[in-house]
Amino acid sequence: AWQRVKRRLRAELGEDVFASWFARLELQEVSGGVARLTVPTRFLKSWIESHYLDRVLATFRSEADGIESLEVGVRGAMAPARPGAATLTKPAPSPRPAASPVVEMPEPERAPRGPVPDGELGGAPLDARLTFESFVVGRSNALAHAAAERVARHDGGPALYNPLYFHAGVGLGKTHLLHGIGHAVKNAGRRVIYLTADRFMYGFVNALKTQSALAFKEKLRAIDVLILDDVQFIQGRSIQAEFGHTLNALIDAGRQVVVAADRPPTELESLDERVRSRLAGGLVVEIGTLDEGLRASILQSRLEAVRASHPTFEVGPAVAEYVAKAITANGRDLEGAVNRLLAHATLTGAPVTLDTAETAIRDLVKNREPKRVKIEDIQKLVASRYNVSRSDILSERRTAAVVKPRQIAMYLSKVLTLRSLPEIGRRFGGRDHTTVLHAVRKIEKAIGEDTALCDEVELLKRMLQD
Ligand code: ADP
Ligand code: MG
Repeated sequence: AWQRVKRRLRAELGEDVFASWFARLELQEVSGGVARLTVPTRFLKSWIESHYLDRVLATFRSEADGIESLEVGVRGAMAPARPGAATLTKPAPSPRPAASPVVEMPEPERAPRGPVPDGELGGAPLDARLTFESFVVGRSNALAHAAAERVARHDGGPALYNPLYFHAGVGLGKTHLLHGIGHAVKNAGRRVIYLTADRFMYGFVNALKTQSALAFKEKLRAIDVLILDDVQFIQGRSIQAEFGHTLNALIDAGRQVVVAADRPPTELESLDERVRSRLAGGLVVEIGTLDEGLRASILQSRLEAVRASHPTFEVGPAVAEYVAKAITANGRDLEGAVNRLLAHATLTGAPVTLDTAETAIRDLVKNREPKRVKIEDIQKLVASRYNVSRSDILSERRTAAVVKPRQIAMYLSKVLTLRSLPEIGRRFGGRDHTTVLHAVRKIEKAIGEDTALCDEVELLKRMLQD
């Protein structure tokens, strides 16, 4: 089963991601529902834990019965792993660790892995499907799309908006737009590199390892357009410093930098203040959630694309309308829905009815992600509802008129975001996590006793969530 897991990971993640992270991942034993995996370095261990644990677990589970959790250990390490530290029992997306760990360099004796493959330095290949042509423009992404096109078509003279920074929740088209820029720049004969944060970090660590860091930097700085995806994942002191230098060097030289992340620059907690403000210094564009019209258009365009290779695949207008209404979360789920409908049609040979569509996409409808709520929005909304200012909420003032909204805002931050108590405390003017905990408990109790407050908080929740 383990060999199948590895084969599937290789097929799903692509050869070079697999080679970078999983080639040396080995199964040590399975006992009591726990699969113990090992890798040769602590760097690999922490990388796999923070980026791929739920993926590996899900794959493993689908190939073997009775696997409950995974542990990743370092081969040859003397000390046993902290019990439970690497265990993942529920496949929830783990928030980034608040303190950015210093990335460790792998031990020199294991280091040389041959010359750095060009793929790592030269960036990830662009997905041929993700072009401007296949990108559907609607109200929520029109500005982002326009900025992307301008930047991509711009030639000669210093970069326009630098950096161009997109942010949006998952599946809203960031990567699609970035690839679109990549294709257009490439087609215009200019030099472009598309890198994910993973690849940037790996490329950099690997370059240090093989003493080609200088070549890596030079290569990065010798291009016309650098595209960096998912920069919220960049962490580690030396790497983020390097990221900062690269950013400065490119921008100062008038080269275009395009960046995407799941949050605005100010909320990139793993990066230091200077890097954040550099990222915020160009044009920052948010891509909003997909409204129903946009969802319907994206769905149609996906269906047409699929029909090119499956001419008998038909989805009637009622079914399409149902899917576009039901799948509200993001483009990725829409794509998943199309795949499920296609699988259903192919396997049964029957036309896709509303009934079968409902069954086929049920899990996507149920599991759709709640909207990501930002602490800042909570503070703003609560402040305006209670006629205080946001700075009152963040201040030290302890008058009742300020304390209550502050506590409600803390409570909402706890229940509506994935942030930890210490993180919430920091975002409320540097308060201690015990203060936050006290506020959360107090409001929970008050809600139980006071129906007016209960309704009020419920209303605030709804306002924040849609
Ligand atoms: P993100 O990087 O923001 O998480 P992606 O760019 O990977 O999102 O988009 C997820 C899926 O949804 C992709 O298949 C993408 O092609 C599709 N998608 C998202 N927005 C659009 C759009 N406006 N037009 C066409 N497809 C889209
Ligand atoms: Mg993406």
